[in-house]
Amino acid sequence: MKKNHKSLNFIFLEICIIFMYLFSFYETGMFQGSVSPFVYIFEVIMTVLTITSIVICVKTSNKISKIDSLTGIGNVDWIMAKGGKMHFQKKLSQYTAIFLNMKESKYLNEKFGNAMGDKIIHDYAQNLQSYLNKKGYIGRMGGDNFYIYIKNEYLDEFLEYLRNITFTIECDDDLIEHKVKVRCGIVRVTNDIEYREIMNHASTALAIAKETGPDFVEYDESMQKEFLAEKQILADFKIGLANNEFVPYYQPKVDSKTSQLCGAEALVRWIKDETIISPGAFVPVLEKNNRITKLDFYIFDQMCKDLRTWIDAGIEPVRISSNFSKQNLKNEHFAEEIISIMKKYSLDGRYIEVELTESSCMEDFQLLKQFSDKIKNAGIKLAIDDFGTGYSSLSMLHEFDADVVKLDKSFLDSATAGSKRSQVFIQDVISMVDDLEESTICEGVETKEQLEFLKDAGCNMIQGYYFDKPLPKDEFEKRLKKPQY
Ligand code: C2E
Ligand code: MG
Ligand code: MG
Repeated sequence: MKKNHKSLNFIFLEICIIFMYLFSFYETGMFQGSVSPFVYIFEVIMTVLTITSIVICVKTSNKISKIDSLTGIGNVDWIMAKGGKMHFQKKLSQYTAIFLNMKESKYLNEKFGNAMGDKIIHDYAQNLQSYLNKKGYIGRMGGDNFYIYIKNEYLDEFLEYLRNITFTIECDDDLIEHKVKVRCGIVRVTNDIEYREIMNHASTALAIAKETGPDFVEYDESMQKEFLAEKQILADFKIGLANNEFVPYYQPKVDSKTSQLCGAEALVRWIKDETIISPGAFVPVLEKNNRITKLDFYIFDQMCKDLRTWIDAGIEPVRISSNFSKQNLKNEHFAEEIISIMKKYSLDGRYIEVELTESSCMEDFQLLKQFSDKIKNAGIKLAIDDFGTGYSSLSMLHEFDADVVKLDKSFLDSATAGSKRSQVFIQDVISMVDDLEESTICEGVETKEQLEFLKDAGCNMIQGYYFDKPLPKDEFEKRLKKPQY
């Protein structure tokens, strides 16, 4: 942009010079024919030269405005114009469009400084430009994003090439080999696709690559629908939170020996336009997009509020567990925030339990340990949800002292469907947890047969449709008043 301004200034200057010449012709009396022929010739030559330089200047300025100043390759305007032209000439279906994003630019800038970060982007762009010579085209979209058209016959070879580009970086007199990692949204262009749609599809595929993990994602029709549905959920989520559309339902937990209500789990429900939406439809989307922690705390707050209402009304509540995503463990004030909500409603820790899934417990043991120490000091219990679904369940039991271990429904289903291995697994886990003086609960108990199996195995608590589904607040309140099953 700066360069464009410079060129325009230059053109303006040239125009001024022409006017000066014309003025000097007038001044010297050339228009009146009273000047020597040499001056006449000289002035004509100067005018031709000036006009030529203006033409060159305009051409250069057009060229400059299509070149990316950092990398020296084509910029957005250039690559878009190139694509548009090929589309118009019906040549674009010979190409595959790729939206490419360099993965570690932020990290490289932080580690080696911005100048080195810029150099890597420059070298990378130049490297791809040389590779693409006669095989395709590349333009920089800004930042560390590039848009590429590669001839279909070279696509596989090019993707392989992208996977293996390595640079040597100079750092404190050391030479470091750096493999450039990228993500790509890939679109195979067809003749019937609308030109503007190609880039939309490529950026959708790139966004999916960023969210879901695989580095190279090829666009297909279903993706767009899914992607738009997710975007809709995220937009509705913001409004839904503001409109208090999320509520906790409470699923009772029953003491296996006394058949008495002994606890509950708060499970979120989204009540939108009088429809009740289950968490399976939105929790994974919120997790993927890092919004789940907001919901977790919102539901926890509602749960604490309900506990306070029952206590104030003279109804003795039970301990209620709330589900927290593993993303919360990244928050160093996770425990403090839980405790502060508990205090806001003047609640005792004995009414509260935090559920973390087994997979989250395995991820960062140190963080988990700190978190668990803090909440336990406040009298809050910690449960490991979906136990048995991870790969290191037993080593986790060994290392970590949770208060409650929640056996996943899948084991119970296969145990009662006759799987000897699942039966032995459940029995052994229950007796081990018992020896460790922790409690067991099994979720998803639906039949009398399952209940009897768990009772025989010594499972402490039972949760499942056999006793109750997750209940809205009012119905759960009735259950609190009549806790015997
Ligand atoms: P979860 O924490 O493992 O919850 C148990 C799920 O099993 C619940 O599904 C519950 O309704 C269901 N369930 C309980 N008993 C039975 C049964 O007998 N049969 C069958 N078929 N299902 C039973 P729900 O309410 O749909 O919740 C699904 C998952 O959503 C939960 O699994 C939990 O991981 C997540 N979730 C729910 N609320 C929250 C929340 O506030 N925050 C977070 N992060 N996750 C939540
Ligand atoms: Mg749970
Ligand atoms: Mg579970």
